Amino acid sequence: MSHQHIEQLRRLDADHHLHPFTDNAALAKKGTRILTRGEGVYVYDQDGHKLLDAFAGLWCVNLGYGRRELAEAASKQMNELAYYNSFFQCTTEPTVRLAAKLAELAPGALNHVFFAGSGSEANDTILRLVRHYWAVQGRPEKFIFIGRQNGYHGSTVAGASLGGMGAMHKQGGLPIPGIEHIAAPYWFGEGGELSAEEFGRQRALALEAKILELGAENVAAFIAEPIQGAAGVIIPPDSYWPEINRICKQYQVLLIADEVICGFGRTGQWFGSQTFGIEPDLMAVAKGLTSGYLPLGAVLISDPVAEVLAGQGGELAHGYTYSGHPVCCAVALESLRILQDERIVERCADDTGPYLAERWRALGEHPLVGEARICGMVGALELVPRKPSRAFFADRGRVGGLCRDIALEEGLILRATWDAMLLSPPLVISRSEIDELAEKTWRALDRTEKAIAEAI
Ligand code: PMP
Repeated sequence: MSHQHIEQLRRLDADHHLHPFTDNAALAKKGTRILTRGEGVYVYDQDGHKLLDAFAGLWCVNLGYGRRELAEAASKQMNELAYYNSFFQCTTEPTVRLAAKLAELAPGALNHVFFAGSGSEANDTILRLVRHYWAVQGRPEKFIFIGRQNGYHGSTVAGASLGGMGAMHKQGGLPIPGIEHIAAPYWFGEGGELSAEEFGRQRALALEAKILELGAENVAAFIAEPIQGAAGVIIPPDSYWPEINRICKQYQVLLIADEVICGFGRTGQWFGSQTFGIEPDLMAVAKGLTSGYLPLGAVLISDPVAEVLAGQGGELAHGYTYSGHPVCCAVALESLRILQDERIVERCADDTGPYLAERWRALGEHPLVGEARICGMVGALELVPRKPSRAFFADRGRVGGLCRDIALEEGLILRATWDAMLLSPPLVISRSEIDELAEKTWRALDRTEKAIAEAI
């Protein structure tokens, strides 16, 4: 892109485009980065810089960039039938086939699908379906959802309310009524002297305490991400999920797994629920479902819940124009076909995942890294001022932001949440690309350490 072209786009962007989760005034001054193309695990910016995208766009481009089969699947479906709704006793072939495919792939009795346009819409759908599920069984008081502090379930009103992000609650009068939050199993930040296993058990028991406080007869569901993504890739201790399963069953509280990040291979198995032995009644998916090539979300619903909804539930007063969009579903089917035919999830489990884990954990040797954690193809580095203490930097977020910016200069895209550097590369990343990722991360850590020392 010419200098003039870039400047014109930046001007138009500053004048007309509000970016999500962004200080727009600050960005308007600085000028946005313009991504121009992508190939495999790499994207290119306006100046032609090649960047290794270790964050898969936004945890979603699992098959990497530039897969022609996905573009062709979209083009074919658009030419045949670009759109039809699923409202008026209608459907399209890709919609039906994708519902059946998801039922085949999903664990347990999750055999029914409601389509949405995104992860947020999937979670909004879950809130309404679950409250309706209890109400039609004569239990309308079973209404309260329990989520977790710093959980992330999207940006719509219900999604942001179910999530536990304080900054989001401050805008728009959230959370809506009937939503409670408990603490997360964040051992590195909050575990103190407890072993990870003991801490995990304690944090699971916080759910039981909350249910007893509210009265089980008032609690509809518990919603959580198998691995808490946006909060900083919080990987729960092994003791956590089995206890959560037990508690939800004991108190007749529906268990909802938000697999918007974890679904479709991210944790080294098809679903995070399989990795952690979670037994959900409903599941939200999006992102990796189409590998981010088109927007699509879905709610997977277990047989017993679907039986009630489709039985005494009557007419479902819920749905989106784009529920079951044929082009999005065609792309999702092709994306799942590639994942299966190329055995990508298996490769992550047996080969590239363990290799990435080895290289990522070695970054834990760096003086700035207090913990290097990873599960499958998702991980984090906690940057700390003084190893082996797990205490945070005083002005949380500054060092993480610095490291992220330096990594970019090194040609590497990592995300920073406070001072945790987050990793979520395309699942197709090769061993040599993993080497490059690890080397660039180490250099970014070195330069960050030096910059901190110089600033003191
Ligand atoms: N749930 C989780 C766990 C997520 O990470 C996200 C998005 N990062 C969402 C829900 C919301 O999805 P979307 O942005 O597609 O609405």
